[in-house]
Amino acid sequence: MLLVHPLDGDGTQVQRYALKDLTLPEAWSSNHRQPRMIVDLNDGGNLEILDPAQWQRALDQSGYLPGLAQRMQTRWPLLLGVAAVALVGLVAFYKYGTPWAATQLTRFIPLQWELSISDTALSQMDGGMLKPSKVSQARQEQLRAEFQSLLDKTPDALKRYKGYAPNYSLSFRRGMGANAFALPGGAIVVTDGLVETAARKKLPDEAIIGVLAHEIGHVVHRHTTRMVVEQGVLNTGLGLALGDVSSIVATGSTLLTGLAYRRSHEREADCFAMALLGHSSLSSAPMADLLLAMAADRDQRTTEDGDDPTPASAPAPAAEGASKPASAPASTAPSGQQENDEDSKGESAWTSLLSTHPDTVARAQELRAGKAEHCQRLP
Ligand SMILES: [Zn+2]
Repeated sequence: MLLVHPLDGDGTQVQRYALKDLTLPEAWSSNHRQPRMIVDLNDGGNLEILDPAQWQRALDQSGYLPGLAQRMQTRWPLLLGVAAVALVGLVAFYKYGTPWAATQLTRFIPLQWELSISDTALSQMDGGMLKPSKVSQARQEQLRAEFQSLLDKTPDALKRYKGYAPNYSLSFRRGMGANAFALPGGAIVVTDGLVETAARKKLPDEAIIGVLAHEIGHVVHRHTTRMVVEQGVLNTGLGLALGDVSSIVATGSTLLTGLAYRRSHEREADCFAMALLGHSSLSSAPMADLLLAMAADRDQRTTEDGDDPTPASAPAPAAEGASKPASAPASTAPSGQQENDEDSKGESAWTSLLSTHPDTVARAQELRAGKAEHCQRLP
């Protein structure tokens, strides 16, 4: 409490101010105080302090505690401490909070939303980079039957979201090289290139079934939906934390998040595939060979998109060559399976979004072994 005895009048008119109602000048250094200071009484009056040191002693004796901002300004260890806590908080929010929140929120996203998004996405792709499949109906039905049998064998323990019953379908398209992808809600698309690559490498159907198991894993874990929700959580959270600069930070972190989390999603889908294949008494090793062949196919297509002068008959210069074991079937893919009527410009974004991650070699090794250490942490 500050008691002010005005000099005019008879001296009995004491004015009382609670310290919390006063605006005290903020100090920037506890050693170098201002030669004089003004206290705003917030009732239209000011108090001019002629002896700031004495004022400070009186304040200290009263037990008055300056606000956090001023304490930070006068004590740099505290400032660093608060900055460190804020940084750790932001990083933790980004790394753990966002995916956790997205995983929880995804429970409330209806299947119908996923299906309508997927329908729109697939019809857009059908009008562009994807063409009707040339795989024979008999072969399609054969793979569909194996796909259905895999679904029927999926144990409840592998289902990530209780009560989530996706509307599974397997369709075939030409385009995008050797690829497969899952749309939210259960639509899985396999390209002719993938079926042809498996045939050319003389891989058993287990290879394609393995890729299908991996794609079912993406659907079961609702990875695409979680990624979309994550971006929303991240942008909202950063907006609350950082105010006006959020849009800049959010844009950058959106890109980073997309890349970082997709890798964890691939690993999660691989773990799911290994568990499901193991449960169905199938081997995940042929899938490893197919993944490597798909990666080689993509490298080659990337090179061709970039107008590389390398003749098509030469072995594809493997971008991942440095990290690949010599035995990997990386540079042997002929260019015969390339679709020559594709719109390669609009394709690149989708291809990078949907295709396998560059750490294909590490994944292939895990699939050959049929197990991976990181899988044990999964439910
Ligand atoms: Zn995947």
